[in-house]
Order: sequence, then C-alpha cells, then structure tokens
Amino acid sequence: MIANTEPGQSEDIQHRLDEMLSKLKEHGFRITPQRLAILKVLAVSEGHPSVEKIYEQVRRDFPTTSIATVYKTIHMLKEINEVLELGFPDGSNRYDGNNPFPHSHVICIKCQKIFDPDLESLQDMTAEVSASTGFEIMTHRLDFFGLCPECQREE
Ligand code: ZN
Ligand code: MN
Repeated sequence: MIANTEPGQSEDIQHRLDEMLSKLKEHGFRITPQRLAILKVLAVSEGHPSVEKIYEQVRRDFPTTSIATVYKTIHMLKEINEVLELGFPDGSNRYDGNNPFPHSHVICIKCQKIFDPDLESLQDMTAEVSASTGFEIMTHRLDFFGLCPECQREE
C-alpha cells in the first residue's frame, strides 16, 4: 500500500507501537525515551528508513542520541522478529517496523524509494514453490526493481 493518509492510520500506528512495546517488555528489554522515539519512527516506517534516516529523525527530539543506540535498538527488535531488515549488497540496509512479517517490496533504482506492493498471488507462489520443490517454506524474499512513477516522469 502506497497511500499513507487513510483514516484510522494513526490508530494502526499506535497499535503497532503497543505491539512492539509489549514484545520488548516480554523479553525484558528496557524502554528508554530514546528507544521509544526510535520505535515510533519504525512503527510508521512508510518509507522503509535506513539507520541514518532513523537517526536523523530521532535526533530532532533527542539531540544526544547516538547512532549506536539506533543500531542497538534495531538489533533488539530483530532478535524478537519485530522489524524486517531489507539487506542490500552495498550495505545500505533498510527497515520495515510497520510490517515485520515477510512480504515483497518494489524498489526504485533511481531514488531508492521502497514500497509494499499489494500482491495477491504471493500465497499461491509460496504454495507453488513448495509443491515443485518439496520444501517446507518458512520465509521468502521477493524484491522488484524499477523506476517509480516520479522518476519515470523525470527520465
Ligand atoms: Zn524513484
Ligand atoms: Mn515493507
């Protein structure tokens, strides 16, 4: 979904944030105000932010935050499967804390925008892979690369 101004969205974000918080508490992680600020950025995470982007945003409210705190918080969330890491060969990893479950992405090779496409056939695809290989599928990674509408217009 690309739209991010639908009614009810702020409740969704609050719900997602509450989910993250209760999972962290369950695992005995302490929530500092800085960590909370990082979680908030990730709960919204429409643009699949990088560590640097998260750092930039959190520093506006908490200027003393270190980038190490951002890395540590993400690591913490990864351990309990509450954030999805999109790794790239050049090390420019991006994060989806809004939807931590495996899903596909569409990535603009020019401006590096990343969206979650609606992909109805993903379940069928998973079943097909399982049927044709005998694998029990646990997760998947499916990325589409191309030019976003804005970048196409600039071409
Ligand atoms: Zn683009
Ligand atoms: Mn995503």
